[in-house]
Amino acid sequence: MRLITCLILLHFFILAACAPAPAGTTEREAASTPAATPLPLPSPTQPPSPTATPARVAQAAPPPMSDAAAEPAPPTPTATPSAPPTPTPRPPGTPPRVGLQIGHLRSHELPEEQAHLRTSTGARWNGITEAQVNEAIAVRVRDILVAAGVEVDLLPATVPPAYDADAFVAIHADGSVEGARGWKIATPWRTSAASRALMEAVAATYGVITGLPEDRNGITINMRGYYAFNYRRHTHAIARTTPAIIVETGFLTNAADREIIVARPDLAARGIAEGILRYLKQRDPNDGAALLPPEWPIFYTNAETAVRAGPAETARLVARVPADSRVFVFNQAGEWYEAMVRAGDARYVGWVRVEQTRPATANDNPAPPPAEPPGTNP
Ligand SMILES: [Zn+2]
Repeated sequence: MRLITCLILLHFFILAACAPAPAGTTEREAASTPAATPLPLPSPTQPPSPTATPARVAQAAPPPMSDAAAEPAPPTPTATPSAPPTPTPRPPGTPPRVGLQIGHLRSHELPEEQAHLRTSTGARWNGITEAQVNEAIAVRVRDILVAAGVEVDLLPATVPPAYDADAFVAIHADGSVEGARGWKIATPWRTSAASRALMEAVAATYGVITGLPEDRNGITINMRGYYAFNYRRHTHAIARTTPAIIVETGFLTNAADREIIVARPDLAARGIAEGILRYLKQRDPNDGAALLPPEWPIFYTNAETAVRAGPAETARLVARVPADSRVFVFNQAGEWYEAMVRAGDARYVGWVRVEQTRPATANDNPAPPPAEPPGTNP
């Protein structure tokens, strides 16, 4: 498990992937990074089939329920909890199905519910776009998986409604003006055991096969709040029970990283594909419980509360938040919740003591209704 400990002050309406990491950059800044010797971008050996429609499409996710101003989007305090769906074991002999998303590919085609992300074109370096790099890697991952008997959907930025698969892997690359480098992998905020196992499997192979370092402190709020993970808010997102990760393969703005992710997409692809295959081999396909992300109700702080970087009183203080700050819990360790805490316009990710929270009541301000209409279910 990776702990998100960074303090955040979000000024964006909603989160998108590939926003600045701690050593962040803007697209313009990345584009103006002085170029050394440009590396040729190998072209994919096969055209992708990003319009492929998965054979299994589950029921559409419920419409967005609350809080247009922030992700993750929890249910309103007064919402009636619905029974979690029971994952259906795959029939014996069914080949596993994996969705590979080419980050930012045709983002201008994103549906209305994600229209704010249509201009999210990702990192860029010396005329090479992130989508090109992501695609060159993704098609090679597909080829390896297909050769191993896996059914693969190559997906653009737009995810089919309630996309249901044995694994969903979003492939991205990073940009930075501060010399950051390396790869990182993140799961959704509320992580099922299956998503965690998928992350650990790919993390175990990607670094070894590519030789790239892990960007250990680089996981961002935007990675974990990735729009395609957010089945609560978006129709065009993974199904609740689809194991999912986002892989930042390396930095386009770093020459050593480019030697792999741009010049050797075959190596980057093998690093991802072997991890996916390892996960598929290790998992128990009949373990439906592993597919269910944990659920907590909405809490509020019952007094001024410390948000800390770890589940201990000695951990670094992230912030002090006043009573009645909203607490969106996504993990628990003993007497501590790991959560996103909202105090006014500020949001903090860290750990709060369980005893300093209380369940939401009808007197708590309900979140405003979503500003965006729910997506359609074709
Ligand atoms: Zn990206």
